[in-house]
Amino acid sequence: MQVTGLLKLSSYLVSVIDPQTILTNLVSSLVEILPSVQAGVLWLEANGRLRPKTVLGLPLDDATHEALQHCQLRSGEGLAGFALQHAEPQLKSATRGYQQTAASINPVNDPLFHQLSAQLPSRLTAAALPLRVGAETIGVLELINLGHHPNDTAWQPLDQAAIPVLQAFANLAASAIKNAQLYAAAQQSERRLKAFDAVVTAISTATDLDDMVRSVLDVVVGLIPDASGALLLLDPTHDHLALAAQHQLPPDGATYLAQLPVADSPCAEVVHYGQPMQRPLLEDRGEGPLIAGNLVEAAYFPLLAGGTVAGVLALYGPPGLTMHTDKDLLMPICNQVGFAIANVLLYADSSSERRKLNTVVTSIAEGVLLCDAAGRLTLANDAALALLRLDSLPFEQPLAAMPDFYRMRDMEGRPLSLEDLPFTRALAGEVFQDYRLILHGSSGDETVMSFSGAPAHAGDGMIEGAVVVFRDVTASQKVERAKDEFLAVAAHELRSPLAAVRSYADLLLRREQQRGEADPRDLHGLTILTQQVSHMLRMVDNLLDVSRIDAGQLDLQLQRVNLVHLANQVIDQQRPAAGQHPLILECNEDELVATCDMLRIRQVLTNLISNAIKYSPPESPIILHLCHRDADSPEAEGFSGPVAVLSVTNEGPGIAPEQQARLFQRYYRVRSSRTEGLGLGLYLSRQFVQMHGGRIWVESNEDIGSTFAFVLPL
Ligand code: ADP
Repeated sequence: MQVTGLLKLSSYLVSVIDPQTILTNLVSSLVEILPSVQAGVLWLEANGRLRPKTVLGLPLDDATHEALQHCQLRSGEGLAGFALQHAEPQLKSATRGYQQTAASINPVNDPLFHQLSAQLPSRLTAAALPLRVGAETIGVLELINLGHHPNDTAWQPLDQAAIPVLQAFANLAASAIKNAQLYAAAQQSERRLKAFDAVVTAISTATDLDDMVRSVLDVVVGLIPDASGALLLLDPTHDHLALAAQHQLPPDGATYLAQLPVADSPCAEVVHYGQPMQRPLLEDRGEGPLIAGNLVEAAYFPLLAGGTVAGVLALYGPPGLTMHTDKDLLMPICNQVGFAIANVLLYADSSSERRKLNTVVTSIAEGVLLCDAAGRLTLANDAALALLRLDSLPFEQPLAAMPDFYRMRDMEGRPLSLEDLPFTRALAGEVFQDYRLILHGSSGDETVMSFSGAPAHAGDGMIEGAVVVFRDVTASQKVERAKDEFLAVAAHELRSPLAAVRSYADLLLRREQQRGEADPRDLHGLTILTQQVSHMLRMVDNLLDVSRIDAGQLDLQLQRVNLVHLANQVIDQQRPAAGQHPLILECNEDELVATCDMLRIRQVLTNLISNAIKYSPPESPIILHLCHRDADSPEAEGFSGPVAVLSVTNEGPGIAPEQQARLFQRYYRVRSSRTEGLGLGLYLSRQFVQMHGGRIWVESNEDIGSTFAFVLPL
């Protein structure tokens, strides 16, 4: 009869899939079926401890019953702990109370057991049946016979004979519990997966941020019975939370959450520490508008993007909301949403930056071209198309196809090599300005373009592309040419009268100096007159040299020149103009012979020294250094033999790097130069040095000084 009942019960248990139903019904069903059992405790094991899941039939007062619910038994402790430890059923009968039964196994000092035994009948029998599933014991089923009552005719003893059947039943029940638990866990992970999937779909199909937060919130709120919720976004200054989406909030609640300073919001800690938080809603905290909508509890989850909080998910609901909130599911969902929000905001930011940049690029009158590291065009504005007179640009074309495409020539009309293309120069790391090239139109017309270019560096410093800006300078080129022509004519006309004035001024000065009682004021006036006329003549000579170079009429008169001797001569000539500046010649050689045009090299040295005088503080030394360098020295790189290196060093404020590259251009003067000049000295010096097959350059340190140096092949 009992066995039939147990069989029925076990077949019922294996059909139940909800673990909670099994746990609540197991003991009560057994008490119903078995006349030898009046009470029972179902203990479940977790982390080596037994905790009571169901307590039934024990004649205890409420306080003791409640205390028993929270009791924990270690493995080996009490009858149930002993059964757990040995995985074998235990049967104990007591004639002098529960405490004695328990103590007969091992002493239990917990005051709870004194309380218990005082309330339990003194005669009782307890069977502790381990709930075994394979090698695992998932808990202990403790069945208790409370002793014989004189009026109870159905009473039967709980004895050893019943144990094998009861243990077999306990094993079945254990399997049923374990299966139901596994099934519940599988169902929960499936639910989680589905929810996660729904959130990912909501994120990926959303058309914009509003749409995304609304869909995500709908999914999340749908996971929790009776919940309403809100998605709050943190503004970029991190001091306000703004309501981005809400689900079934009372109207006043939505107004309350619309715009909240973080410091005053109920989820300030969530924003600051990036941790979820659950708590009851409180009138004192200003949450009245939510409470008025019958909302009682709140759960807040940070929307994390990496280490930063992008916003907060707020869930509100009736009592028990927090119990139904699956933190393990919501945390990863909120991370996903946080990242998605950060991405959308970043994308919005970068597209707004792109739009601004596009507006700038398209609205400027200069042509703008951008290329990638391989030299393929990636961006061009309308002005570029118009200037190059093209309908479309060769995007995707390799750099090698470019010279042909642009039909560009250098200023002498030679076809452009790949190395001389503006893009190639910029991709090689060069920053340049006013690089002039001629564009040949299909109808044979010529346009002069001035290019500026620079490499574009990636975050790691590598060159990832280049930008080139250009404009049509044909008109200004014509004006410049006209100006050059005018200056050439003027210089030509001025030279003879000026030369005559200088000769007479020199003559007058010499006579005045020779006169015994010369008036110092006259002497001073005449000195200034000769200096100024010489200065004017030098300027006129420079202008004439420029026009000769343009006309290709400047020929070098080559001869063998001892550069040491020449340097000494120039220094002696410059001494009067140098005033307080010590002029020092540094040279270890007696003789350094080069084949060159003595006049032109003298002109270069004179230019460099007179610049050093003009652009350095009074009394600071000026050093002319002269040396011989072998073919394998760094200075001789690019030359086929030994070279002479001549340099002029002066102290002074130096020249900014961006100006250094332009010093050698025609008419270029640093804007702050206070002295007079035409900006031709360095231009001519470079022309003369280059005509000799040499090279000239400047090294300058701001606040220290400058060195202008040139090499001549020997
Ligand atoms: P100019 O001296 O007539 O202006 P240059 O061609 O000789 O023309 O020089 C061009 C510019 O280079 C000058 O205006 C001056 O600003 C700058 N410069 C030349 N030499 C020096 C120097 N030694 N120190 C500082 N700046 C210099």
